[in-house]
Amino acid sequence: MGSRQFDDFLYQRYLTRAKQLLAEFNRKMSVLGTRESPFCKEGCAHCCNHIFFVSSAEIDIIAAQLLQDEMLLARFIERAAQRERQLMNHAELLNACEDPGEAGSLAAQNFMRLKIPCALLDNDRCQIYEIRPMTCASFVSIVPPRICASDPKGSMSAAMNQLLAETRQALRKLSKSIGGAHSDRLDISRQVLKRLAEIGRIPASP
Ligand code: SF4
Repeated sequence: MGSRQFDDFLYQRYLTRAKQLLAEFNRKMSVLGTRESPFCKEGCAHCCNHIFFVSSAEIDIIAAQLLQDEMLLARFIERAAQRERQLMNHAELLNACEDPGEAGSLAAQNFMRLKIPCALLDNDRCQIYEIRPMTCASFVSIVPPRICASDPKGSMSAAMNQLLAETRQALRKLSKSIGGAHSDRLDISRQVLKRLAEIGRIPASP
């Protein structure tokens, strides 16, 4: 799917369906999350300092959304480039975050304490909230914001887990239907930036 252009009809149809699925997931997850946490509130964005995995379908959806709004795109590129400069000093930690086990969780906690937020965050607001990645919407804090800022603890109910598994499966199927490889990759900002470069909308190394 990497070389497929955004003006391709089938690709557009895939994007529309994938976006609907993700938006539906976010609506349902918000309802379930509100039941689980008295702490997660609009305008609180400590979790946006996390480093999250994101699927290829979600990257496509976010990139397409940014391409529809020049100002949003420009601000994202600016923040993402600045973030990349900050990350240059933490390459080792970033590599450690790729570990799927305990070592990766520990590294991710340390990453969060660096306070290098996602480039899609502006004034403590997610700029793509309705179509934010599933990992973002699924992070539901069970500790107050003051603690969440440095020692986050999340929880997921059985219903949340089921919704996540079902939507993942549906997105995977959708990706496959257009010949795309469905994979999860680390770091939302970096992956969206890469996708924009891949389709030639920004220089390869901003
Ligand atoms: S995509 Fe949005 S919700 Fe997710 S980390 Fe980035 S700013 Fe936060």
